Amino acid sequence: MDLNKLADALIPDEDLEPIEAYEEKYPARDLPKGAEVTRLAPSPTGFMHLGNLYVALANERIAHGSGGVLFLRIEDTDSKRKVEGAVDVIRSSLRYFGVQFDEGADIGGAYGPYYQQQRAKIYRAYAKELIRRGRAYPCFCTEEELAAVREKQTENKLLPGYYGEFAKCRNLTEEEIYCNLAAGKPYVIRFRSEGDVNQKSVFHDAIKGEITVTENNQDVVILKSDGIPTYHFAHVVDDHLMRTTLVIRGEEWLASLPIHIELFGALGFRLPRYGHNCSIQKIDEAEGGRRKLSKRKDPEASLVFYREEGYHPLAVRTYLMTLLNSNFEEWRMKYPDKPLEEFKFSIGKMGKSGALFDLDKLNDISKEILSSLSAEEMYDFLCEWARGYAPEELRTCLADRAYLLRVLTLCMGIGSKKRRKDFITARQAAETIAYFFRAPQNLSFRADGETVKEVLGRFMASYDPTDDNAAWFDKMKKTADALGFASDMKAYKAAPDAYRGNVSDVAEIVRVALTGQANTPDLCTIMSVLGEEECRRRAAAAVASL
Ligand code: GLU
Repeated sequence: MDLNKLADALIPDEDLEPIEAYEEKYPARDLPKGAEVTRLAPSPTGFMHLGNLYVALANERIAHGSGGVLFLRIEDTDSKRKVEGAVDVIRSSLRYFGVQFDEGADIGGAYGPYYQQQRAKIYRAYAKELIRRGRAYPCFCTEEELAAVREKQTENKLLPGYYGEFAKCRNLTEEEIYCNLAAGKPYVIRFRSEGDVNQKSVFHDAIKGEITVTENNQDVVILKSDGIPTYHFAHVVDDHLMRTTLVIRGEEWLASLPIHIELFGALGFRLPRYGHNCSIQKIDEAEGGRRKLSKRKDPEASLVFYREEGYHPLAVRTYLMTLLNSNFEEWRMKYPDKPLEEFKFSIGKMGKSGALFDLDKLNDISKEILSSLSAEEMYDFLCEWARGYAPEELRTCLADRAYLLRVLTLCMGIGSKKRRKDFITARQAAETIAYFFRAPQNLSFRADGETVKEVLGRFMASYDPTDDNAAWFDKMKKTADALGFASDMKAYKAAPDAYRGNVSDVAEIVRVALTGQANTPDLCTIMSVLGEEECRRRAAAAVASL
């Protein structure tokens, strides 16, 4: 059969460049020895999973830790899954979490275009080359024919797929092919596999270690009937021409690895290294243990969740690093102030089986990170979050910068011996300090109404905003003594039944009345931030509400 003629008949495009031109246009990268070229290749579905960030961070650390390159390729060949604005979602969420690409979609670079839709000609040129080499052929099978083959295979418990005797179009004669073409039958282009499933070999996966791979024998589709490549083919062509050295991708692709190995070989390309990454899991008692973090069931599976809640990007990054590399935590404990970039990330230390996601642990890290910010940094962080995600009334609260800085200084314990760790996220922080902006509602006192009235009446009568901390506390103690509470803790502990309670119970009543919360930073300072007038108004409102 004249394969050149066949290639022209199947892929008649006149504007295709010879593949040598592409090899020249995208030459080997000039990088130092050991530099890795990694990539993120998401499909623009509009949904960014925590797992996407997890892989992105690994890729980023590996590329930049080795003096290499990280690029972003948008895998938009499946128009059914494509969502308007999805690329913005990908780029903005990764940028927010600190993943910097060196080249890629919307950034540009010498190895683009980085949208697969814009690379159609390139795939067609390489598919044509495979036809010329006798390693690809047209397949005219209809959906019904393929379904019948599948059914037969299932019935006989045979390996499913298009291979060997089931690959009907593999051995079509020249006449049959041209006859089908003349009849206008739609066709796909399939790869002609030369593999044998009885051949197995050991493969080194950069994450999973030594694994056994079975040779591919499937004549997979490389170009669909609309001329658009399948993932298999686009992956091989792109990662070759973009000179990727390490492909990190989800372990769901492990089953297709034999196809990719054979395709790389058939095209004469050098195989990149692969690392198949495990999924992020969570404990679900109701479902009896570990399961995959699910887009459908778990709000925390989506990156949007972390932005809406206002998790600090560094907290999420730090937490993911603890999941990514088992020795990261130890390093961080040793060097709490060093930037994450100084940690020596190792792909070999990534988990071989599922990484377990734990929101409590993320929250602990978040508390630590937020407590290390200055009041100004916390203010900026709150404002940035509020611009995108806070309800209107919270946003207006943030307008008075000077006032908010006083509030934050107090609530974060800045300047005191020990920093407070009350804040977890921007949303929770804004809600925690909301009492500085509006009087608390629905007060809930542990004491009875009469006691509340007595305490507020007496304490507020003695309250003087010019008092210092010691004088303020002295008045609190005097209120306690006057009303039968113990002002002295020792005395109280010796005979608790002799008192109505102690001075902290008295302070709690004032605290709840003024802030709505039973636990707050130093109440005396809170009162001075709120101002005398506001304190008296709130105390009166609390009494009136009883
Ligand atoms: N578009 C593929 C996915 O989203 C990319 C897999 C890969 O990284 O090669 O699963």
